[in-house]
Amino acid sequence: MIGIQYVDAHAHLIGRDRESGQWAIPRIQRAAEKGVVILTIAQVPRLWEASLKLAKEYDNVFIILGASHPDGSRLETFEKLVRTCKEEPSVVGIGEIGLDYRQGKPSDIAQRKEQLREHIQVAREVNLPLVIHDGKATLDILRILEEEAADDVGGMIHFFTGTPRQAERAIEMGFGLSFGGPHTYARPLRELVRSLPLNRILVETDSPMLAPPKLRKSEPNEPSFVVDVVKGIAEIRGVDAEEVRAATTANAVRLFRLDE
Ligand SMILES: [Zn+2]
Repeated sequence: MIGIQYVDAHAHLIGRDRESGQWAIPRIQRAAEKGVVILTIAQVPRLWEASLKLAKEYDNVFIILGASHPDGSRLETFEKLVRTCKEEPSVVGIGEIGLDYRQGKPSDIAQRKEQLREHIQVAREVNLPLVIHDGKATLDILRILEEEAADDVGGMIHFFTGTPRQAERAIEMGFGLSFGGPHTYARPLRELVRSLPLNRILVETDSPMLAPPKLRKSEPNEPSFVVDVVKGIAEIRGVDAEEVRAATTANAVRLFRLDE
C-alpha cells in the first residue's frame, strides 16, 4: 500500500456468492496498487468473520459492522456487535442500516425503523460513525435521525439521492454524503454533485452492485474504480481531479478516523 490516496467509502467485498473472500483478494490488491482504502460492509452477522479476516490480512481494508438481520436472539447479537466493535480496530463504523422504499414501503417497516434506532444507539455506545442506506426513504430517515438526536453520532448517507434541501439537513446533522458512479452520469444526481460543499462529500463504488462510472455495464464494478468516480465529480464541478481526490479522502479519513 502506497499511503492513502483514495477511500472507497462503501463496497461489499464479502456477500452473497462472495462469502469465502476469494472474489475480494485480486480486487483488494488492484485497489492497493492505486492507494485505495476500502470500507467493506458487513451488515449481517453471517458476513462478519470473513470480513474481519480480510481486514487482518490487508491493511487497505476496514469494516463497517452491522446486524440488520440479527441471527437468534437480538439482545445477544447486539451485545456481540458492541463487543466486536470494541475489540477489533479494523471496525470503523456501524451499518449499513436504513430504509428502502424503492419497491414500495416494506410490510415490516416498523421493525426496520426500530433496527435503525437500535443501530444509532450502538453507534453512540461504541463511539463510531453510522453508515446509512437510503433507498428513496430520505424523509423518514432524516426524521428518525432527528428524533434520536443522531447529530452526536454522525456518519454518512451512502449513495445519497435525496434533494439538495434534504442534503442540507443531513449535513447540518453532521452527516457526510457519499456519491458513486451513477452520480457522474445520471442527470438529477449530477446536479447534487455540482452544488454540495466539497468538505461533506465522500466517494464510493458500492461494488460490485452499482455500475462503474466510465464503463457502466461492460465490466463488473470494483473498488479501484473509485478513481473514476473522483474524475467524474471533478468534471461536473469544473475543478481538478486532484482537488476532489484530496478533499474526499480527507473527509473519509476524518469521518472514520482512519489515521488513528
Ligand atoms: Zn451497501
